[in-house]
Amino acid sequence: MQQANVSQQPGTSSLPDLGNTATAFAHKSNNELWQAYWLFRIIGTPWLTNLGSSLTKLALGLHLPVKGIVKATVFRQFCGGENIEESLRTARKLAKRGVGTILDYSVEGEGDQAAMDGTAAEILRTIAAAKGNPDIPFSVFKPSGLIRHDVMEKVSAGAALSTEEAAAWQQARSRVERICQAAFDAGVPLLIDAEESWTQPAVDALVTEMMERFNKERALIYGTAQMYRHDRLAFLRRELEQARAKGYHVGMKLVRGAYMEKERERAAEKGYQDPIGVNKAAVDADYDASLRFCMDNLDRMAVLNGTHNETSSLLLARLMQQAGVAKNDPRIHFGQLLGMSDHISFNMAAAGYNVVKYVPYGPVRKVLPYLIRRAEENTSARGQTGRELSLIIAERKRRAAGK
Ligand SMILES: Cc1cc2nc3c(=O)[nH]c(=O)nc-3n(C[C@H](O)[C@H](O)[C@H](O)COP(=O)(O)OP(=O)(O)OC[C@H]3O[C@@H](n4cnc5c(N)ncnc54)[C@H](O)[C@@H]3O)c2cc1C
Repeated sequence: MQQANVSQQPGTSSLPDLGNTATAFAHKSNNELWQAYWLFRIIGTPWLTNLGSSLTKLALGLHLPVKGIVKATVFRQFCGGENIEESLRTARKLAKRGVGTILDYSVEGEGDQAAMDGTAAEILRTIAAAKGNPDIPFSVFKPSGLIRHDVMEKVSAGAALSTEEAAAWQQARSRVERICQAAFDAGVPLLIDAEESWTQPAVDALVTEMMERFNKERALIYGTAQMYRHDRLAFLRRELEQARAKGYHVGMKLVRGAYMEKERERAAEKGYQDPIGVNKAAVDADYDASLRFCMDNLDRMAVLNGTHNETSSLLLARLMQQAGVAKNDPRIHFGQLLGMSDHISFNMAAAGYNVVKYVPYGPVRKVLPYLIRRAEENTSARGQTGRELSLIIAERKRRAAGK
């Protein structure tokens, strides 16, 4: 078996082998693998990514016929389709390999009330599509798709709202309530993403309120803890304490966090303490501690381990093993993004763990900001691209050797 260079800790032989590229890429034909190889080669080259992003934005702005190229390349790697219907086909394909789909409507930055009502209606459609469909075990939304950014920021800061802002906040709250109620009625667990720290207090308060209302029997509403923030372990402890006192369950998606540069820049510019941990090692330590915390409190918590980090994925598997918790325990999920870290998703799923992927979707033109961020993230996080590439190369060699 061709093995990619993926770290495995000593004494963990019964844990999933994340270096098994045959399982990781069984869903890809030779041609698809070749395309993925070139895509990661290109986005691993910063100047090409920057040039490609600018040219694509320009071309789409000028209504040049580039949609087909985008759709056949970067869109195909990272998105499930242009609408729910198309994405259901992607979901079926993933489900055949034991991986669940989370339909992630990835249209960004449409801040007016009508657009936010449209987004809420779309999220409700994703919940309807997930209802009774084992291929789609969760639904999700991004707060900024439903709540005006300036209003979230003011509520988070405890600032007074104007009459117009208070009305916008009420509208946003009712969108969130409607979505949580629909998820509850459909029996579909719902993830609520986390964004910038300066809008997060408003979101956290809303999530806590929804958990108290809908998580009496089990964790149905999940908040998100960005463990790159040095205050998040204390946050987790507070959330759990409150849930125990009031008799409900905490659902938590753990992630490291996607906005580090922006957070550090704003803190420096405005002169407040940087909310992000001092370095990667400190963030990793908090991440590990948060996994242990959730496992120690599984009687009241459910966790989604949202990471592309092999060590974090294997650590949770090891903690489950040590605690004698079944691999498919409904309170524990592993999550990755479509088109990334397939070696984690498919090897964990093949070993019997609950695995889900965010499957972003939307019209090509509208998901472009998401795609550009994916490309840029893979460019800046050279480690990630290197990992993806080395795995793809290993699998191509394995297939060529006919092993
Ligand atoms: C299913 C899923 C859902 C997600 N949902 C969200 C969400 O709701 N909100 C959100 O913000 N992100 C979300 N993310 C993205 C996530 O936060 C990370 O950006 C991404 O997964 C990379 O982190 P990692 O754990 O995979 O891997 P790693 O490669 O181990 O870690 C990279 C991360 O470590 C941190 N880091 C890197 N260098 C430093 C440093 N010098 N100092 C401090 N920290 C550092 C950063 O957070 C960086 O993104 C989600 C990811 C997944 C897979």
